[in-house]
Amino acid sequence: MSGPNTSFDPKQVASLDAAAIDAMVADAVAAVAAAGDLDALKAVRLAHAGDRSPIALANREIGALPPAAKAEAGKRVGQARAAVKAALDERQAVLEAERDARVLVEESVDVTLPTDWQPVGARHPLTTLMERVGDVFVAMGYEIAEGPEVEAEWANFDALNIGPDHPARTMQDTFFVAAPDSGVVLRTHTSPVQIRSMLDRPLPIYVIAPGRVYRTDELDATHTPVFHQIEGLAVDRDITMGDLRGTLDHFAAAMFGEGIRTRMRPSYFPFTEPSAEVDLQCFVCRGESVGNPDRPCRTCGSEGWIEWGGCGMVNPRVLVAVGIDPTQYRGFAFGMGVERTLMFRNGVADMHDIVEGDARFSLAFGVEA
Ligand SMILES: [Zn+2]
Repeated sequence: MSGPNTSFDPKQVASLDAAAIDAMVADAVAAVAAAGDLDALKAVRLAHAGDRSPIALANREIGALPPAAKAEAGKRVGQARAAVKAALDERQAVLEAERDARVLVEESVDVTLPTDWQPVGARHPLTTLMERVGDVFVAMGYEIAEGPEVEAEWANFDALNIGPDHPARTMQDTFFVAAPDSGVVLRTHTSPVQIRSMLDRPLPIYVIAPGRVYRTDELDATHTPVFHQIEGLAVDRDITMGDLRGTLDHFAAAMFGEGIRTRMRPSYFPFTEPSAEVDLQCFVCRGESVGNPDRPCRTCGSEGWIEWGGCGMVNPRVLVAVGIDPTQYRGFAFGMGVERTLMFRNGVADMHDIVEGDARFSLAFGVEA
């Protein structure tokens, strides 16, 4: 004979009778049906299926039942929990579908609406042109060289064999920084970068120097007081004028098209000897407009050639000025105006367009990275 079940407490397990369990399920199903959105359903799930829900508490009471009652109570509670879970899952699926449909409508994008797109800027064609020239020469083994725009008068003039009496040194041409006897100028050409390169670098030297230069010109259709040059310098043993010519031909072909030639006309620059003007074969008509009134060429004025820049063999005096033995080394140098190159290369008629900085001008050249 067994003793009394001392753990049995009729009050505690009253919640396990069938009517009470059915009521819990009915409450839960009603709450699920009333949940209007996923947040509300989450609260219902916590209240009716969470650890502290009536059904969970009833489940815990099963352990207190006499063994004979446990099986049936367990089955009843299990079915109740499954019914509540099924109701929750069904409602969850319905509410998620409603949410997804609503999001599709609310967050749809009308690609035909006007936007607040801001136009990006464009790099100036002078910059991209100078970089393109730099690339041509870097591919031939040259290095890019730079120098200060506020330059020593010695590097800008004296070392380049431009004597104190040379007209270029007057205040009509040169911006002096501080007093004219300060010895400091805004560089009037990129040639002082030649001097600095020969002072700083070991021989042999192959450099290309693009940069900004200054002269006291008024801004008009073809002049500007601030403009750009590209300067090339090679110093090595056995350099000849033939090397210079071949280099310029390659440069011209890379910039203006295969087969474009150059020609040299005798000239004078203090820092080269001999010196020459470089003309470029017209890359539009290739000379076919010459003597042919039926085919006039605006780019070259039907002359077949375009003035491009200056060049020559480095004057031995310049080599001596920077401590290079002219009996052992020779060099060539050349320089051209970047604005001028841009004007005839791309048909820019007025310098104002180049200097005014209107992005619409730059954009016409395409946006280059
Ligand atoms: Zn032409």
